[in-house]
Amino acid sequence: MAQKGVSIVLGVIIIVGLIAAVVPFPCSRCGGKGFITSQVTCTTCGGDGKVAWGLLTCPDCGGRGYKTVQTTCPACHGRGTATLVEILLGR
Ligand SMILES: [Zn+2]
Ligand SMILES: [Zn+2]
Repeated sequence: MAQKGVSIVLGVIIIVGLIAAVVPFPCSRCGGKGFITSQVTCTTCGGDGKVAWGLLTCPDCGGRGYKTVQTTCPACHGRGTATLVEILLGR
């Protein structure tokens, strides 16, 4: 009887492990979008939003002084989903 209990526990551990390694979940890092947006200072105007001594609005960032860039999510590699193992390891 004790042997049977052990093998059931082992079976559950293996199944949970397989689910964690194989079944995809919505990626928590990017919210399932597959990419991460971040804001970087515009190199054309240096963050001022103006060029030509402040006379012209920066054409590169539209006067905001920063640009929004999208990078592929490192956790899910752009898929929007990741397995528990990938999420926990942060890949
Ligand atoms: Zn700019
Ligand atoms: Zn992601």
